[in-house]
Amino acid sequence: MSQFDYDLFVIGAGSGGVRAARMSAGLGARVAVAEARYLGGTCVNVGCVPKKLFSYGAHFTENFHDAASFGWDVSHSPLDWPRLRDNKTREIERLNGIYGNILGSAGVALINGHARFIDGHTVDVNGKTYTAERILIAVGGWPYIPDVPGREHAISSNELFYLDKLPEHATVVGGGYIATEFAGILNGLGVQVTQIYRRSLFLRGFDEEVRGHLAEEMRHRGVELRFNENVSAIEKTAEGFRLQLDSGDSLDTGLVLYATGRKPLIDDLGLENTAVALDDKGFIAVSDSFQTAEPSVYALGDVIGGMELTPVALAEGMNLARRLYGGVDQPVDYEYIPTAIFCQPNIGTVGYSEEQAREKFGEISVFTSQFRHLKHTLTDNPSKVFLKLIVDKASDRVVGVHMLGDEAGEVIQGFAVAIKAGATKAMFDTTIGIHPTVAEEFVTLREATR
Ligand code: NDP
Repeated sequence: MSQFDYDLFVIGAGSGGVRAARMSAGLGARVAVAEARYLGGTCVNVGCVPKKLFSYGAHFTENFHDAASFGWDVSHSPLDWPRLRDNKTREIERLNGIYGNILGSAGVALINGHARFIDGHTVDVNGKTYTAERILIAVGGWPYIPDVPGREHAISSNELFYLDKLPEHATVVGGGYIATEFAGILNGLGVQVTQIYRRSLFLRGFDEEVRGHLAEEMRHRGVELRFNENVSAIEKTAEGFRLQLDSGDSLDTGLVLYATGRKPLIDDLGLENTAVALDDKGFIAVSDSFQTAEPSVYALGDVIGGMELTPVALAEGMNLARRLYGGVDQPVDYEYIPTAIFCQPNIGTVGYSEEQAREKFGEISVFTSQFRHLKHTLTDNPSKVFLKLIVDKASDRVVGVHMLGDEAGEVIQGFAVAIKAGATKAMFDTTIGIHPTVAEEFVTLREATR
């Protein structure tokens, strides 16, 4: 009989923690999970899921507009925001319940409360101590708002999901996934939006040409993009807020949303009672096998930095459970992880940007295509799809696939399998297209652009 209460004690019931817990339990381990907030973590409660529901809601504006050219006269009243918000919240609550059931039926003990380390094998939750042979930190991250004067007037994405009402004008600060997605969502929901980003073009790290086309598309849709700009102070006014900008301009707005990155949620975790160390960016430092500097303590998901994506946390959770309790060690492969930004239109991408590919492979060929979606040919919608393939000349392998257009995430998920399997440009060329689709263009790109 083990000297510990549990074999594995997981702190955090988000994507990574729940996956590790229930798979470990399925492999025979005695597992408990402590959660202080909500089941399902950021993704289910204040991230991917509610964001995507809002993104669906935001797309209706464009659909209503285009419908007239297809013979449908759709008159629509302004958005009933409380209905959308509350329907979303009901769905999230349903998912919270499902997460509880999943853990329960896997035999995982769920402990409600904030866990704090006493030592490398012991945690305290609500004054009760629990011991475990191994402890997993899967506490995720939390939005970070920089220290600008008046920062107390700004909200993060967490609060946006529960707003009482939508403002007439909103300002979104930041140029990452969250800022760009919410600029599009708010705009689609009928709010005038200004997005402020401190450098020359948002979505740093993504393919530059794709980012440029997205900026055009967002401007077409009415989002005001102010690049090379930042907020120096936020003041409360009678009607809303006044932003003082680095350029000397000021901007009146009804809502200030900061989406300037996220920090690991490690405050008051009692890490000082363990040997767990942080890396130079403040994330928990782990080995390739997710082990921290305290040998009995592991960490994965957003709290270790890297690609802060739900499917990555899931893969890490599965890897850990299988290795610790299933005797299978198949390392997580971080190359060719597909991702989508649910901005409007969507970006879907797998592999290297043109800039990264040039640096990594040297000689590359670049194939691009920009065209109007067949659906838009009957309408006055100026939106254009943009597709791009990057090919390593030496191996003929396709090392980057990028799309800006409707449902880009759905399209790229399929291509991601081919890219991971090492598909070459010759294989793309011999693949028959599905006509008429947008994605068929990926297999008919014959002439290199560069
Ligand atoms: P990101 O790290 O992606 O972007 C942060 C942005 O804020 C960058 O544009 C950054 O600028 C800017 N910024 C940082 N500090 C400041 C500052 N002091 N003043 C002004 N601007 C600043 O973070 P997000 O918050 O957008 O998202 C966090 C993570 O969540 C993402 O990295 C992603 O992994 C995940 N996510 C994934 C989604 C998806 O899969 N669809 C959706 C949403 C989030 P700079 O470029 O100069 O550094």
